[in-house]
Amino acid sequence: MDHDTDEADALQPSGLATKRRGILFVMTGASGVGKDTIRSAAAPFLAEMVYSISATTRGQRPGEQHGVQYYFIGREQFEQMIAGQALLEYADYVGDYYGTPVAPVKEALARGQDVLLELELVGARQVKKRVPEAVMLFIAPPSLEELERRLRGRGTDSEEKMQKRLARAREEIRALREFDYLIVNDEVGRAVTELESIIRAERARAKLVTDAQLAEFLRGGHDGND
Ligand code: 5GP
Repeated sequence: MDHDTDEADALQPSGLATKRRGILFVMTGASGVGKDTIRSAAAPFLAEMVYSISATTRGQRPGEQHGVQYYFIGREQFEQMIAGQALLEYADYVGDYYGTPVAPVKEALARGQDVLLELELVGARQVKKRVPEAVMLFIAPPSLEELERRLRGRGTDSEEKMQKRLARAREEIRALREFDYLIVNDEVGRAVTELESIIRAERARAKLVTDAQLAEFLRGGHDGND
């Protein structure tokens, strides 16, 4: 994987590919679809990107840490963040608030670092509206039966919450064509390869080169013959 990254870097035409704004990637997919597993498996590749840590009012699951998976906060604090326009987007998901603190995202993009957000559908749509150039990725399960099996296997939700999560999953899948890319998580290794390929392709888009960078590049190549 490192080797691949080195190779890709070596192939970048550095004069044109330097100093661009970061790209905002949004990953959406039902809870239980394996977004976290994909992210951990792709961690060495994703290390160069900023993963935005969301704020949520939902309870902490065993093994989760404040400031790592989420900032676990109370409803009042969350509502203060909404009122203070401190969130890029937020949504109510199965009875709890989830939202993206805007400042770290803005700062990272301005520094030229790519950012990855993991959002349910309502939040993903808000981001697409505010940042139309955001790259929208959808992670789907191989089947709804498999999704239910994975959710049950996790065993962290009541039957009622699980049914709500499944209902939300169906709604999200119905919105599939609003997204730029589909990754089916039938096998983690393959899903990770696809994620990495998509990110690489997006970074190589010619339109990311600004007029100023292009002019600068052309000036640099001037040899006095014209
Ligand atoms: P979970 O409770 O399983 O961690 O997350 C529930 C859902 O909320 C998942 O689909 C997850 O991607 C989504 N989610 C996590 N953080 C955010 C956020 O900041 N904003 C929005 N809109 N959804 C989020």
